[in-house]
Amino acid sequence: MRKTIVAGNWKMNKTPKEALELIETLKPLVAGRDDVEVVFCPPFIDLMLAVEATKGTNIKIGAQNMYFEESGAYTGEVAPNMVKEAGCEYVILGHSERRAYFGETDETVNKKVLKAFEHELKPIICVGETLEQREQGITEDLVRMQTKIALKDVPAEQAVLAVIAYEPVWAIGTGKTATSVQAEEVCAAIRKVLCEIYDEETASKIRIQYGGSVNAGNAAELFAMPNIDGGLVGGASLKADFAKIVNF
Ligand code: PEP
Repeated sequence: MRKTIVAGNWKMNKTPKEALELIETLKPLVAGRDDVEVVFCPPFIDLMLAVEATKGTNIKIGAQNMYFEESGAYTGEVAPNMVKEAGCEYVILGHSERRAYFGETDETVNKKVLKAFEHELKPIICVGETLEQREQGITEDLVRMQTKIALKDVPAEQAVLAVIAYEPVWAIGTGKTATSVQAEEVCAAIRKVLCEIYDEETASKIRIQYGGSVNAGNAAELFAMPNIDGGLVGGASLKADFAKIVNF
């Protein structure tokens, strides 16, 4: 039985002070949902205080990215052990905004996934197609490839700790949500490729989220689909409404 996971990707929003305010607002609203894993992914600068502010609660903290080298002359980057030592349990990798604006590739995602596991961080691996790719009919081919490359050389015992977030790029921050049927179709295809890489048992343990304009109104229908195990939420994670998604 896979535990539903609802993660908030705060993106480049919330100063430390604002982060604390949001955490204090959400803490009581998501308390007591032991059947749902709740993860907040604030900007790097907020991570340590978010970890401190959520101690003893059901909220876990994740980073939105990290680099794949251990340390050194990589100005502006954040190393895996820094993310770990800050108290993070999760790290989002391969978000489409990082792929589009910061040169993230399937290969760098794979390097980061391997590093994350080395440091006992659980990766939330984002895959998904653009509108053009969907219209070309290559959605499943693309997410299969993204998933396969991201998990190259990852053994089954680590893969079961990963989360795959299916995020159609055309649905991110646009208010356009994939229908539950469209989302399920692709998540089922991802489950199938996990089964091909590993085996049925491993594939059945890996959680697959849907992301793309998830909100309080559509979460229940999406999360009810057999291969959708929760959501990666952007815009709606910055408001008290996020609690309604957790309590779908
Ligand atoms: C995201 O960035 O991961 C995301 C799903 O954003 P939004 O919910 O705003 O579409």
